[in-house]
Amino acid sequence: MSQYVKDLMEEVKAKNPSEPEFHQAVNEVAESLSIVLDKHPEYRAAKVLERIIEPERVITFRVPWVDEQGEIHINRGFRIEMNSAIGPYKGGLRFHPSVNQGILKFLAFEQVFKNSLTTLPMGGGKGGSDFDPKGKSDLKIMRFCQAFMSELFRHIGPNTDVPAGDIGVGGREIGFMFGQYKKLRNEFTGILTGKGLNWGGSLIRPEATGYGAVYFAAEMLETRGETLEGKTCLVSGSGNVAQYTTEKILELGGKILTLSDSAGYIYDEAGIDTEKLEYVMDLKNVRRGRIKEYVEKYPGAVYTETDPNADYNPLWNHKADCAFPSATQNEINGNDAQNLINNGVYVVSEGANMPTTQDGIDIYLAEKILYGPGKAANAGGVAVSGLEMSQNSMRYPWSREEVDNKLKGIMKEIHKTCIVTAERFGTPGNYVNGANIGGFLKVADSMMDQGVV
Ligand code: NAP
Repeated sequence: MSQYVKDLMEEVKAKNPSEPEFHQAVNEVAESLSIVLDKHPEYRAAKVLERIIEPERVITFRVPWVDEQGEIHINRGFRIEMNSAIGPYKGGLRFHPSVNQGILKFLAFEQVFKNSLTTLPMGGGKGGSDFDPKGKSDLKIMRFCQAFMSELFRHIGPNTDVPAGDIGVGGREIGFMFGQYKKLRNEFTGILTGKGLNWGGSLIRPEATGYGAVYFAAEMLETRGETLEGKTCLVSGSGNVAQYTTEKILELGGKILTLSDSAGYIYDEAGIDTEKLEYVMDLKNVRRGRIKEYVEKYPGAVYTETDPNADYNPLWNHKADCAFPSATQNEINGNDAQNLINNGVYVVSEGANMPTTQDGIDIYLAEKILYGPGKAANAGGVAVSGLEMSQNSMRYPWSREEVDNKLKGIMKEIHKTCIVTAERFGTPGNYVNGANIGGFLKVADSMMDQGVV
């Protein structure tokens, strides 16, 4: 670690105590950028990275709501408006009990670089609440979403900040929040992405993150003259990203062995085929059940409960070629990364944000596997959100094929940026440096152009 990164990290930790995920995300980027900052002292003189680390605005608010039994609940709402150098703030809303300011700051920070990589004009932001939607009635969800938007509406706008979904926020929640925004503002506008098709949504938006992560894996494999055909794949999660990752892997001829939720994971040696995926989609999106129910329907599969005291996750300890972490941050630690390698995995494409800890990443890089970090590999979701914004502005929707082709083109472009940038800065094949530096340069140059603001 260079002295510059050491000093920077000391300051980041002192200024942002109790935010370990934010420290982790900044540290990874700073390590990559030290190469650029050595070559370009003008960025260092203008304190560009120091400015990117400090959110432009942090909004925290009370979200009081009343359930159907008349009980009052109080949650905490957040929106981190991180960086608007290249466009309006853009990034998802997460509803999960683990949500706090540090987690949203790490996500917003990553989002700045990711959005820049998409080639679209979007700044970085992230928000959410510690509200837990799991097991709650539709009425409770609606009341919470309305209460949340009753404050958020004054901070966002189609040219200011355009949130989307993330963990715990899918089409249902976006619908309730959009309705409340429209009522409060008396304005039908592209204020959120991930909207329903009948009211301004884009085709392929629900699929985009998962599809994009698989397109990225296919691009990485192509550098070795290979495809996904016949490859065995481990997928974690069973939400939006995991479902469409599975769908696209199947389409490209791969075999999926695992899916999970926070309570445990299933291993299906026969493979999760289209019919089984349809069952999972109904289980998760309609019946809102748990993944363990899969083994009741398909007894050939094995369910393993999560052991919170274990120092590794057995999901990552199966023979396979590829891994698609698609659940949450830090779901792969150093032991898991080593297990992946020992089991023959040589492609990791991150659908989730920061799913691998730093010691895990170090193992991937030392082993020189094809490792697509989340910033690059899962950028397809926000890219199609950007395309949804374009369609809203034009008031003209594109066909499924048009959007999918644009998504494919963008993932190809992101892959190329990673490869070319990593090579240019002397670390060929290192997608971490490629993504961090590639995302940084456009934002940094824009900030230099716009003065100290
Ligand atoms: P989702 O639909 O809510 O699904 C999340 C999945 O991950 C669920 O199966 C959930 O299980 C599991 N999970 C969540 N927290 C967990 C934890 N602490 N431990 C173990 N499992 C956990 O969310 P999603 O949209 O698929 O998001 C998944 C990941 O992709 C996140 O890292 C998100 O930031 C990232 N991402 C999403 C998008 C997007 O467009 N949606 C774009 C880019 C990146 P439970 O049901 O048990 O909680």
